[in-house]
Amino acid sequence: LKKKNRQATSEVDAVPTGMMNFRKKTLGGKRTVSSNFVSPVAQKENSTSSRSSSIPPALAHLDSKMVEHILGESMHDFKPVAWEDIAGLESAKSTFLEAIIMPLRRPDLFTGVRCPPRGVLLFGPPGTGKTLIAKSIASQAKAKFFSINPSSLTSKWVGDAEKLVKTLFAVAAAHQPAIIFIDEVDSLLSKRSGNENESTLRLKNEFLIHLDGAASNEEIRVLVIGATNRPQELDEAVRRRFVRRLYVPLPTREARQKIIEKLIRQVKHNLDVVQVTELAELTDGYSGADVDTLCRYASMAPLRSLTPDQMEVIETHQLPAVTMADFKQALRVISKSVSAEDCKQFEAWNEIYGVRH
Ligand code: ADP
Repeated sequence: LKKKNRQATSEVDAVPTGMMNFRKKTLGGKRTVSSNFVSPVAQKENSTSSRSSSIPPALAHLDSKMVEHILGESMHDFKPVAWEDIAGLESAKSTFLEAIIMPLRRPDLFTGVRCPPRGVLLFGPPGTGKTLIAKSIASQAKAKFFSINPSSLTSKWVGDAEKLVKTLFAVAAAHQPAIIFIDEVDSLLSKRSGNENESTLRLKNEFLIHLDGAASNEEIRVLVIGATNRPQELDEAVRRRFVRRLYVPLPTREARQKIIEKLIRQVKHNLDVVQVTELAELTDGYSGADVDTLCRYASMAPLRSLTPDQMEVIETHQLPAVTMADFKQALRVISKSVSAEDCKQFEAWNEIYGVRH
């Protein structure tokens, strides 16, 4: 399956350890007799104390640098995502509302045997709305959203990844209700193999401990949502902990039509209902993300026809409308990214391990 290569912004922002050492060494620049002395130690203490002040007292016993890293890079604020923003997937939405969102909002009603699952797996082709669903659950449950990218977790915190996982769960619990979203969860918690190194094993075990901890303690309102395009690669023990395993398939014709309608509303166009319906049919097999890319490409056509000089002066209302011909051209350039064969594999896995909804 085509693997998504979404680069976490956190990776871009992060200061590699080597760079920090470099900064320390050059702190204050080259001193001369007349320059004021700037103590590197005092500066470091100042900056640390001002950052630490944002750490809740409940987390004071943890490694402050890690807590800051998680609060700054993993905890995300975003524009709330409503169910209406996600086209289709109606039965998944109602399952989540009843099984996940309401329990996070009203924990007093969902205790004991009514206690909700703490691990949810969303699997299916890339670009079908798994991240959107996770964000919408967080928006509706008014939960803090922590998102981690396994590739940065394992590369940046080599040796310390286990401690980072522990800290992540502690930080999430201090901000509950909280959602920990792990994209590409298969790469973090894949099947154990004989040649796995010690630290990867410890990292996995640490995850399992916390997934169990969250599941067994009703006081902890931390939900872990894993997303994957390769469910068959998941470790069996991990798969079992994700009690709800929901297939997020390619959008139906109706869902594709909704996505197109919503996007073209943002530009001047002259497509009628019949043409939009035709487009929904022509995009059979496209993922939501593919349809999104197609609409963006077609919407650029009126601008593409302008010279740079014209573009400098033209007013928005003077732009030509987006036409069906623009979409037909876009269809020649933007093709579907998921094969029928891939879908068959998801369906087969869903038959065995998926939870009906
Ligand atoms: P995934 O996590 O499954 O790879 P995302 O949730 O990140 O996919 O979706 C990528 C983009 O594709 C979204 O930002 C949205 O623009 C579009 N998209 C995908 N599925 C849908 C959907 N069901 N409804 C509306 N937009 C969708």
